[in-house]
Amino acid sequence: MSTAPLVTTAPGDMPENSLVSLRDLRVDYRTGKKSYVPVIRGVDLDLYRDESIAIVGESGCGKTTLALAVLRLLPKLGRVSGGTITYRQRAGGLTDVLALDGQELRRFRWTEASIVYQGSMNALNPLLKVRRQFHETVRAHRRNMSADQVEQRSADLLRMVQLEPGRVLPSYPHELSGGMRQRVLIALGLLLDPQLVVLDEPTTALDILTQRAVVEVLREVKDQMHFTMVFVTHDLPLAAELADRVATMYGGRIVELSGVNDTFYAPRHPYTIGLIKAVPPVYGDVPEIASIPGTPPSFGDLPGGCSFHTRCPFAEDICTDEDPPLFVMGERHDVACHFADQMSLARTVGDRT
Ligand code: SF4
Repeated sequence: MSTAPLVTTAPGDMPENSLVSLRDLRVDYRTGKKSYVPVIRGVDLDLYRDESIAIVGESGCGKTTLALAVLRLLPKLGRVSGGTITYRQRAGGLTDVLALDGQELRRFRWTEASIVYQGSMNALNPLLKVRRQFHETVRAHRRNMSADQVEQRSADLLRMVQLEPGRVLPSYPHELSGGMRQRVLIALGLLLDPQLVVLDEPTTALDILTQRAVVEVLREVKDQMHFTMVFVTHDLPLAAELADRVATMYGGRIVELSGVNDTFYAPRHPYTIGLIKAVPPVYGDVPEIASIPGTPPSFGDLPGGCSFHTRCPFAEDICTDEDPPLFVMGERHDVACHFADQMSLARTVGDRT
């Protein structure tokens, strides 16, 4: 399944093992004829080869917008207003994703990077049988596979996601359960062997047992196919199960980025700490569940200084004046908080640890 290389660009400061590098990425949404609000406010992030990274946060924090921007799939009202997205091709050359257009952009999507949307019924064409949707996807994006090859690859992928091809390929989407449709979408997303797969809330609409099955499927296909997986979720247990690293977003910025163990056992940002404390544990005594006070701010009316200060129990004067940069708190652990060195899961208001 060879493809010609995409247009190349200069390496900049992209690390050797990074598949996609975002630098100072900014996205705005149009709110009026000439007015825009910033929704992604300067994100620096490397997506490494073969890793699984979760982007977490409440609804409206910018996590889905960030994922859509990487695939150049922003809605019409959105625009990238600054920064760079650099993609490393299979052969090693680099592509300026924001410069892609027409055929090149079309090929980048699905062949290099694919997305599995939430809401499987909406993402599949309800009028086409699953078999046709596999064949149409290949036809639209790559013409050098025979019908037999498409049939074989579709069947292999469906088996990989624990579905029976003989049952699923001749079915319409409405003839399948929600969990089966979600797994069909995962198989479709892998059809053209992308290096990057983005999953937007992959288990949100599923019951708890089906969620479990989809998590197992994702873990298995990831182990077998070695793509880079980015999943957007507000489900912290899902992030704990599947992610190697976790990026916590608030107000259009990454406010904490760390390995999954640090995120859950040694978080340093009050917002990450608040999210973790709001999830009841599955085992042991149930401690007091503490929700984060207030609601996420509107992007059109973000507070000055640290955008979390209006909800943060540890806010001090400096927090209203100065937006903290991402401070390096350890190996691959960055935190945007003026008092990151004093924060821990155990800290309560008034404590200094
Ligand atoms: Fe809270 Fe201040 Fe840290 Fe922001 S900078 S998270 S307001 S303590």
